[in-house]
Amino acid sequence: MEKERVKCLIIGSGPAGYTAAIYAGRANLSPVLYEGLQPGGQLTITTDIENFPGYPEGINGTEMMEDLRKQAEKFGADVRSGIATAADLSKSPYTITIDEEKQIETEALIISTGATAKYLGLDDEKKYAGMGVSACATCDGFFYRKKVVAVVGGGDTACEEAIYLAGLAKKVYIVVRKSYLRASKIMQDRVLTHPKIEVLFETNAVGLFGENGVEGVNLVKRKGESDEENYSLPIDGFFLAIGHKPNSDIFKPYVETDETGYIITEGNSPRTRVPGVFAAGDVADPHYRQAITAAGSGCKAAIEAERYLSAKGLI
Ligand code: FAD
Repeated sequence: MEKERVKCLIIGSGPAGYTAAIYAGRANLSPVLYEGLQPGGQLTITTDIENFPGYPEGINGTEMMEDLRKQAEKFGADVRSGIATAADLSKSPYTITIDEEKQIETEALIISTGATAKYLGLDDEKKYAGMGVSACATCDGFFYRKKVVAVVGGGDTACEEAIYLAGLAKKVYIVVRKSYLRASKIMQDRVLTHPKIEVLFETNAVGLFGENGVEGVNLVKRKGESDEENYSLPIDGFFLAIGHKPNSDIFKPYVETDETGYIITEGNSPRTRVPGVFAAGDVADPHYRQAITAAGSGCKAAIEAERYLSAKGLI
């Protein structure tokens, strides 16, 4: 298998990966970055970003990520297409296999592979992506001021998203498959007593409809053992809150992760338990999952990588 040796390898091309590449490039680390299946990361599947500082008029997600890539390349980052398919972090230099055909040995590794939102798997979720379907209330809630939205999920995240949305929207439905909420008691109390929130128990969302974006949701309510009622509700926004899958599988045997797979780092730093291996962005962040927080942690990871390489006398 073809082999190559680098000083600093970055896996992932979202805000965390590109910010790490900008800092690592400017620190003369000659970073190599692999983009993965989704060049530019999650922001390329949305339309306008209105909350990233520096863009008073908002910016298209794909455009913003192209700018980040250009900025990283300007400072010497070698941006390549390819997917990390295996990792050996048992000894330094660490070995990452790309597309099952090439091995990169690296002194410092920045994992910025993101966390993928889970969807129900309905065709309509794809059809209305960016047109009423969202997996992030903090990101898109603002577009639904004084409108009616539905949140799917029964855990703490779904309740948090519903409460956040209730601060903006006219009405919020929570669609819950079970006859109870899985959320903590305090979150349950907050949603069940909130005047703008209505919880629809034992209900499944089975489709969406609308001419130019989401105008309603088709629901099935379970009634007893075998009876069901099909009905629809007019809504403007459909928010998924059924969890995320951190893209950490190949690193799990080496770095510490929580039960969902988020990489656990040391305190507020991006340091994992493997020296010289850093985790940045959503893959290590179950709490905030925003472009700006991902970019911030990418910056920290590159600074840590520079200090690590410098302490080892490698730069
Ligand atoms: P990501 O952007 O998820 O990027 C991960 C990268 O890793 C991708 O390039 C992928 O190809 C790569 N990758 C994964 N596995 C591998 C592998 N094995 N090998 C190589 N590469 C790999 N945030 C905001 O701040 N404002 C918003 O308005 C906003 N809107 C959003 C709208 C939507 C629909 C979604 C889904 C998210 C939105 N977010 C928003 C959240 C924001 O997109 C994320 O917080 C941010 O993109 C996380 O950045 P990241 O760099 O950690 O990972």
